[in-house]
Amino acid sequence: MSTHHQIIVIGGGNAGISVAAQLLNKNKSLDIAIVEPSDNHYYQPAWSLVGAGIFNKAKTVRNESSVIPEGAKWIKDAVCTFLPEINKVKLGSGNQLHYDYLIVAPGIQLNWGEVKGLKENLGKNGVCSNYDFRYADYTWECIQKTKSGRAIFTNPHTPVKCGGAPQKIMYLATDYFAKQGIADKIQAEMWTGGTRVFGVPKYEEVLKKIIEKRKIKFSFFQKLVEIDGENKKAKFIGIGTANEGVETWVDFEMIHVTPPQSAPDFVKTSPIANGAGWVDVDKYTLQHIKYPNIFSLGDASSLPTSRTGAAVRKQAPVLVKNLFSLMQGKPLEAKYDGYTSCPVVTGYGKLVLAEFDYNNQPTETFPFNQAKERWSMFMLKRYILPWLYWNRILPGKM
Ligand SMILES: Cc1cc2nc3c(=O)[nH]c(=O)nc-3n(C[C@H](O)[C@H](O)[C@H](O)COP(=O)(O)OP(=O)(O)OC[C@H]3O[C@@H](n4cnc5c(N)ncnc54)[C@H](O)[C@@H]3O)c2cc1C
Repeated sequence: MSTHHQIIVIGGGNAGISVAAQLLNKNKSLDIAIVEPSDNHYYQPAWSLVGAGIFNKAKTVRNESSVIPEGAKWIKDAVCTFLPEINKVKLGSGNQLHYDYLIVAPGIQLNWGEVKGLKENLGKNGVCSNYDFRYADYTWECIQKTKSGRAIFTNPHTPVKCGGAPQKIMYLATDYFAKQGIADKIQAEMWTGGTRVFGVPKYEEVLKKIIEKRKIKFSFFQKLVEIDGENKKAKFIGIGTANEGVETWVDFEMIHVTPPQSAPDFVKTSPIANGAGWVDVDKYTLQHIKYPNIFSLGDASSLPTSRTGAAVRKQAPVLVKNLFSLMQGKPLEAKYDGYTSCPVVTGYGKLVLAEFDYNNQPTETFPFNQAKERWSMFMLKRYILPWLYWNRILPGKM
């Protein structure tokens, strides 16, 4: 069976829902279908706080049906194949959808299986991750149970969603240990595939000071390859030129894992992907490089910025403007400058709000130096942003 819709949106997550809502807010008569297989919609940025015991996990999930914009049709299915030459996508059910315009926003894929023993141990043996709704509260259990030994935090060698999230939980945990008076009994360590603490020097400076003060040990160019849950050991392999192939086993009391991530397989293997697997779009207009009636935004797109919901908030209006221009045969004039934001929670009641663009230049919202730990910015993350997400961003009002 093949059904036609004027606009098809792939993915009913942060990007897909906000862009569909913005389109309909501007023109109610558009025929938009959103393809989304999940019954649930998640507010993922709060999972860092769930893992630290300061956000109710149940408040991070709502029924997908409740966020589908009025006037859009929800197709509860998954896209599995792109046929861009004939303007069609194939669904898991075998049905096909025919479109005039396609918006691709299926998010990033979490590759848990790439680390031996990770899937089997997640949620037990001190192995936790805020990257999965099911286990975010187990992180809090692990932090509370850790009284001595090593608390390990990992950051993979791949792109991730929210580049700051692997560190946020490390700062929250070390602040908690200090508050319990047991900081000197616990060695906190970050094992990262990255090469530096943070990509923007202005924010890196303040984070490095916190790391030094809390005596957190950083090991760079490291890839987590195996977890032995029963013996509470993790194996890393060196991926830098100096440590290439060197294997290290590390004991842990708890380990917070940020899994390796990539573009979703069905995108990676499709004609719309670039060499790295992401949806190949122009970094300013968000239009596909080869197929002009395809656009992409959010975590699955090739946009070379840090993948966050904050970035989506700036991408969505650009995509909407350019799609309307295309429909009217006008030039695509709206441009996305790579804006992204990372609210780096550095402790209970403390946050450094990093905001920057494609050139790693700070693009700060507030009239004060944001490269400073602030209580006000923590309040923004804890209370204001979740409210804005459900009430303003998803309904396409900002
Ligand atoms: C622990 C954590 C902390 C974070 N912290 C922050 C933060 O502080 N600030 C911030 O701005 N961002 C943060 N983020 C990142 C933010 O959540 C993402 O960048 C944002 O959700 C991206 O939106 P998206 O629509 O591209 O992807 P998602 O919101 O993940 O949505 C993708 C959707 O596509 C659907 N989908 C998948 N496959 C298919 C398919 N085959 N067919 C159809 N649909 C499909 C999925 O079910 C999903 O609903 C955090 C994320 C995590 C995990």
